[in-house]
Amino acid sequence: LTNRLNKAFKNIAGKGKLSEKNMDEMLKEVRMSLLEADVNYRVVKDFIANIKEKAMGTEVLDALDPSQMVVKVVRDELVALLGESETSIHFKEEGITTVMMVGLQGTGKTTASAKIANLLKKKKDRNVLLAACDVVRPAAIEQLQTLGQQIGVEVYSEGVEVDALTTAKNAYQYANDNGFDTVLFDTAGRLHIDDELMQELENISKAIKPDDILLTVDAMTGQDIINVAQSFHERLNVSGLVLTKLDGDARGGGILSVRAVTNVPVMFVGLGEKIEDLDIFYPDRMAERILGMGDLMTLIEQAEEKMDKEAAEKSAERMMSGKFDLNDMLIQLEQVSKMGSISKIMKLIPGMNQMASNMDELKTDNKLKYTKAMIQSMTPYERENPDVIRSGRKRRIARGSGTQVGDVNRLISQFEKTRQMMKQMGKMQQNGSMANMDM
Ligand code: GDP
Ligand code: MG
Repeated sequence: LTNRLNKAFKNIAGKGKLSEKNMDEMLKEVRMSLLEADVNYRVVKDFIANIKEKAMGTEVLDALDPSQMVVKVVRDELVALLGESETSIHFKEEGITTVMMVGLQGTGKTTASAKIANLLKKKKDRNVLLAACDVVRPAAIEQLQTLGQQIGVEVYSEGVEVDALTTAKNAYQYANDNGFDTVLFDTAGRLHIDDELMQELENISKAIKPDDILLTVDAMTGQDIINVAQSFHERLNVSGLVLTKLDGDARGGGILSVRAVTNVPVMFVGLGEKIEDLDIFYPDRMAERILGMGDLMTLIEQAEEKMDKEAAEKSAERMMSGKFDLNDMLIQLEQVSKMGSISKIMKLIPGMNQMASNMDELKTDNKLKYTKAMIQSMTPYERENPDVIRSGRKRRIARGSGTQVGDVNRLISQFEKTRQMMKQMGKMQQNGSMANMDM
């Protein structure tokens, strides 16, 4: 979306008010982008209609910066559609809480079962039993047993000879007899929905009456997920979603479709194959990811780890408020060289592509050295007030840093562009279009 939106931005930037025509242009790009992110076309259609209605309201038409308003409306609407995160299993006040995991084969049911069991054990002090109700393949039982061992959670299994329903019932009985307060049922999946599987799951559900039925949704699945989710929901009345494999590249738009047909919250997010790779769901981050600003938060977090957080915050604050001077640029350049390519971050933000190349341009090995030398050859006054740097001063700075006046000119013009970009970014943040960026 970044590139698309960028283009659409350009078309309406500075045009003052938003007209129906440029609005349509903008929404066409948003539509394409959502489809690219694997959001189901029906969901996209409703979404766009909804956005249009919202954005065409007077509020937006009167807004100072229409393009930013559109992005904000789109983002906010996506967040609303993704829903609040809901992190808690519906624990019974008394007796055994039961959770059933369902989903297509390979979507991550077994892995999620172990991850959630581990979380409940560690964070909620639950006494958890895992029930191996995928009796189709022996390997499935072994997989759960291995995971159970890793996290120190007992796995109940009767092997492949006993059917899933019986295993589930007996697991419950076993939990009851042995003082467990929570049972997680790992079930079988298929590559595609089939009636036999659905019947089996329905039977287990009827017998166990689970407090939660969690549907695993693979972030990498495409358009078809909407039908899958619908079938599961119709037959089983799913109560929550687990979005798995969000550590992959997929933008994960499928979850929007699933949310649209089930209207149940995303309870957990799988971020890798390891037990600890489980997180709660952040609708705002997910919205940004689907919009193509996906890894922004992650990259910022990674960068923050490497940077001195306070210095970064201070400097960013100054940058955003438009008080960006050459001292700040020097600080930024130094931080940038520590954390790798800033363009990785910038390119994820609409409108920031240009700035990204500016910054990268400045930091390429030798250039960074000379750029620093030029800034260091300036007086403190000059660094704070770059506007005073005219020909005489430029010659002196060039001499002092072993560069040419042309180099000083380039630095100043790049600084100027950067300052403009920063201002814009600051404005965007104030408008809330990038709230939660938390830089
Ligand atoms: P099931 O058939 O639904 O039980 O799926 P599994 O739990 O066996 O997972 C299928 C594959 O996906 C396994 O190789 C898992 O290691 C992998 N997997 C599950 N969850 C995640 C995740 O969040 N991220 C990644 N990268 N891989 C995952
Ligand atoms: Mg499995």
